[in-house]
Amino acid sequence: MIPITRVSLFFLLIFLLLFSIPSFSQADRTIRVQVWSEDSPDFVTIYGQFAILRVVDAVQDSALIALKPGTPIYIQAHYPQLTLRIYDHLYQLSQVKLEPVSPFGLVDLNQPGRRSIYRGTLVIVPAGENRLAIYNDLSLEEYLKGVLPTEILPGWPIEALKAQAIVSRTYAIKNRHRHAETYADFCDNSHCQVYNGYEAETFRTSWAVDATRGQFITYQGEPAEVFFHSTCGGITARADEIWMEEYFPYLVNVYDSIDGGIDACAESPHYQWTYVTSRQALHTALQDDARTDPGRYLTYISIREINQSGRVASVDIVGEQRHTVNGWILRQVLSRVWGWESIKSSRFHLVRDGDQITFTGKGLGHGVGLCQYGAKKRAEAGYTASAILQVYFPYTKLATVSSAASHSYD
Ligand SMILES: [Zn+2]
Ligand SMILES: [Zn+2]
Repeated sequence: MIPITRVSLFFLLIFLLLFSIPSFSQADRTIRVQVWSEDSPDFVTIYGQFAILRVVDAVQDSALIALKPGTPIYIQAHYPQLTLRIYDHLYQLSQVKLEPVSPFGLVDLNQPGRRSIYRGTLVIVPAGENRLAIYNDLSLEEYLKGVLPTEILPGWPIEALKAQAIVSRTYAIKNRHRHAETYADFCDNSHCQVYNGYEAETFRTSWAVDATRGQFITYQGEPAEVFFHSTCGGITARADEIWMEEYFPYLVNVYDSIDGGIDACAESPHYQWTYVTSRQALHTALQDDARTDPGRYLTYISIREINQSGRVASVDIVGEQRHTVNGWILRQVLSRVWGWESIKSSRFHLVRDGDQITFTGKGLGHGVGLCQYGAKKRAEAGYTASAILQVYFPYTKLATVSSAASHSYD
């Protein structure tokens, strides 16, 4: 790290005298998300109402400069350092931290063609290939407000939104440190949960986050392993039917009918679906992945085994080479080629008619855990969020982050 020049020190002192930087509790900024994680920039312009703090060590920050709202600052990667330009001053630093001076302050991150606005703190460090790694540190609740609108439609009934908020919070608690190798808890894309920051927030989804503040799902006193999907098609999947891993007593086959009547997700546009393709198109798509590639010719494809929830447990693919794969893997391979709304789930049948192959199926997604369209219908029928969660995650209890003690569903 290059020492601050005497001129910079002079400015630092002036600014420290001119602005007394208000401090507020940062104790709950416990979530670190790497933003713009899929395509890290080498240069950014940032605006906002913030004071910049230079990170001296992990424990003690030292203030570098305080800015008037709207002042642009420029940061360029010069690995292993970065260059920070404010007004006409240049600083060579190993890390920059941008700290809003009020709890409601926002940081506005810009690059030609791209803009994001975040709550909380930004920490920017130089990364490999002369890129910038940008981290957003914020509270769990603030993070969820930026996540929820991309996971569920904000216009849905509030109890369904609350159920989703509790599921998303549980996922975040359970999967903290998922990106420990890049010093973050989460990335901002669908690998973790899609997080688009402040601009994505909606009044109704933020209301659902606030109304369930701190609540998460537990099993035997520990945060539960939770999943959700769009539409189960009438029965949810066991986790071990899809991923063939551990068995979880609360991720079991749940019949998604309301009081033994119609399926809760029957009104979903994905409840039933059909996809028609040709033998040649199927052959080409299967060749896209080593796990399903039949080689130069495809003799036949046939479902070998159906599991308890009606999903395809194994499929035989026979050609120059032979494979037997789980229906979920086949779905992943085909929908990667044909689009995510082609083969919507692994709950399907196959019919061959000459050159034509028809997939007929039910549901969208893996089918494990919360069925979102089912939750919507249940909310419309008067279920509370906790009653909805009790359906899709049997044997679990709700707890709150602030209290170690769990309490039963009401
Ligand atoms: Zn991730
Ligand atoms: Zn369902």
